[in-house]
Amino acid sequence: AKSQGRNRYNVFTPSMQDAAQKRMRLINDLRVAMAEKQFSIHYQPIVDLRTGQVHKAEALIRWRHPVEGLVSPADFIPIAEETGMIVELGDWVFREAVKQVAAWRRTHHPQFQVSVNVSPMQFRNEGIDQASWLAHLSAMGVPGQGVLVEITEGLLMDAGHNVSGQLQVFRQAGIGLSLDDFGTGYSSLSYLKKFDIDFLKIDQSFVRNLTTDPDDMALCNVIIVMAHTLGLKVVAEGVETPAQRDLLAAAGCDYGQGYLFARPAPAGEMPFALPMAGLN
Ligand code: C2E
Ligand code: CA
Ligand code: CA
Ligand code: CA
Repeated sequence: AKSQGRNRYNVFTPSMQDAAQKRMRLINDLRVAMAEKQFSIHYQPIVDLRTGQVHKAEALIRWRHPVEGLVSPADFIPIAEETGMIVELGDWVFREAVKQVAAWRRTHHPQFQVSVNVSPMQFRNEGIDQASWLAHLSAMGVPGQGVLVEITEGLLMDAGHNVSGQLQVFRQAGIGLSLDDFGTGYSSLSYLKKFDIDFLKIDQSFVRNLTTDPDDMALCNVIIVMAHTLGLKVVAEGVETPAQRDLLAAAGCDYGQGYLFARPAPAGEMPFALPMAGLN
């Protein structure tokens, strides 16, 4: 028993140290990254499932670390949130995305929209300076309708931080609200009405096994019907196969997003229309 305990101790401690050290390094490197502008934005098309047209895209941040290469936002967004750096990072993403949508509205489609992920942390103290966001929009000649803000269910349950007031400011400016990862959080359906959401994004975990798991198909159907009843549009995330796309389209899902259509990529690679083989 003693040697077993010792083994466990030996196995445990170094990895704890490793994790803590790795985290410290990441925090430090993230500060450097902000100063040295190592970030970029990739865009992924949000495709109209009836027509194949692309009039919306999601902005997804990328970090090219000088040594580690591309670091996933899943790894650094949580650290940016814990350290408060997300506020500055989020401001940068918003400003870049608005510049990009201004260009696409001129060159591609006058109603193009870019969807921007906004962390719940950005709604806390000293978070988003909404007046400066709106000023940036008008400086770029983009109406609020050019932007969608992607929030998660948890934010809507936050009774503090004047979340509903801040969302109201966005709405009044014409900025649309999109509820990300729908179905994974503790959602209360009453929030959908109360907060005047425009889009529901069905989480990719419900899309993944759509063709094999009847429960997932049933859930997608219910979400789509409910959303439409409330006047919301639906985006399915993580669409990877034509079979998934066809099932979702047949269920009345409005938009699809996923590797089937395009991976997130630099703005110059945006496909503006995609073939919808097998439909219509
Ligand atoms: P998310 O908002 O749910 O974004 C969708 C994620 O799914 C993206 O991962 C995207 O690349 C990935 N994806 C798209 N299509 C497919 C598909 O067909 N199959 C699979 N397996 N995955 C697909 P990514 O870019 O690594 O971003 C991860 C998360 O990081 C995002 O999840 C979002 O929560 C966060 N994030 C990314 N950019 C930002 C940002 O600018 N601000 C904030 N606050 N969070 C961000
Ligand atoms: Ca998102
Ligand atoms: Ca999502
Ligand atoms: Ca997410």
